[in-house]
Amino acid sequence: MAKFEILHRCSTTRARVSRLTMAHGETVLPTFMPVATQAAIKGLTAQQVEQLGVTLLLNNTYHLNLRPGVDILNKAGGAHRFQGWDGNMLTDSGGFQFVSLSKFAQITEEGALFASPFTGEPTMLTPEESISIQHAIGADIIMQLDDVVPSLTPDRARVQEASERSVRWLDRCIAFHEASGRQSTQNLFAIVQGGLDFELRARCLEQMVERKDKVAGFAVGGLSGGEEKDVFWRVVKQCAEGLPEDKPRYCMGVGFAEDLLVCVALGIDMADCVFPTRTARFGVALTRDGPVNLRLAKHATDLSPIDRECPCPTCSIGTSRALLHHTATRETTAAHAVTMHNIVFQAQVMGGARDAIAQGTFPQYLKDFFARYFVGTGYPEWCVNALRSVGVDLLDGLDPHHIKIVQGSGAKWEYSDKKRK
Ligand SMILES: [Zn+2]
Repeated sequence: MAKFEILHRCSTTRARVSRLTMAHGETVLPTFMPVATQAAIKGLTAQQVEQLGVTLLLNNTYHLNLRPGVDILNKAGGAHRFQGWDGNMLTDSGGFQFVSLSKFAQITEEGALFASPFTGEPTMLTPEESISIQHAIGADIIMQLDDVVPSLTPDRARVQEASERSVRWLDRCIAFHEASGRQSTQNLFAIVQGGLDFELRARCLEQMVERKDKVAGFAVGGLSGGEEKDVFWRVVKQCAEGLPEDKPRYCMGVGFAEDLLVCVALGIDMADCVFPTRTARFGVALTRDGPVNLRLAKHATDLSPIDRECPCPTCSIGTSRALLHHTATRETTAAHAVTMHNIVFQAQVMGGARDAIAQGTFPQYLKDFFARYFVGTGYPEWCVNALRSVGVDLLDGLDPHHIKIVQGSGAKWEYSDKKRK
């Protein structure tokens, strides 16, 4: 099983720095995992990803199972060799996409029944089948099949059924994984469910933590589905507090800088999201001053790079905002350039957090980051509340006449890429 060592703890918040050692090397946590949907991060080679300092990335089981498929992966000796990636890899269970991309899907105790993308025939994804596919892929971290319901589901009985079934499916995943003899190279993570209901979360947490010796880590699932941020952070906090100290904690589907930093302060070690790489392809660069929409006309004559202090290959050779404005969404080179920048931005946010935790300055790092990122637009109230709950007051020492607090996400999106998906 993976070796997990805690190296530093923040004395104020619940943040920690740790080292996760697996078959393809070490990954220092907390970290953000970029998503390589089709066996590749869109627009980048495996070598480029490695050069950006990424040591752990996420692959989608659903997509790898469709193309190239298990037979080719088995012949190649797994997805690492197939895609030329020597670092650590995590695969999801496939369940979320099998269900969400299928024309019809029905969850039974046996598994998830959905329409085959090839023939339209009913096909069953069981917990055992999910683990079997992830064995063929050969990822260093594999996820249990869970019963996911959208976070805004109003039906409490359905949320309860899903969280209880996720525990039973975890047992089936553990049994299948143990029988395979692959525990030394592949590490199974459990996924805590329970929706936005603190009582159901508590029950699911208790039952899954009872199985802690059989899993290598835990994920917090069922969030990032459009729920109120004030509920989101309370569920993350409850889960992070309830999970064991000596296992990594992974919050699924989180990628905005402010969300990442709040999660780290609450005790989360890992997160993933398609957002930074997807938004890059729509011409949006992430910066310490907030997201920059390069498609806006104001960048047409701006010869400065996205961020002068950014060490990414795009900024360090001085690629101008004007060029990126000219090519964004038109030329693939713009997608490469902004994708590399955004991956490095995420790595800098998390790397800065790790350094600050190690040096005992994490509370100040949070204050400085939020002050710069939300200058002018105002602090999201949920971030202020979440960080106060772990002893950091973002507003402490600021002139009360100049503090602006905003409801909702607070992100100063100067665009909407949803329309263009
Ligand atoms: Zn850059």
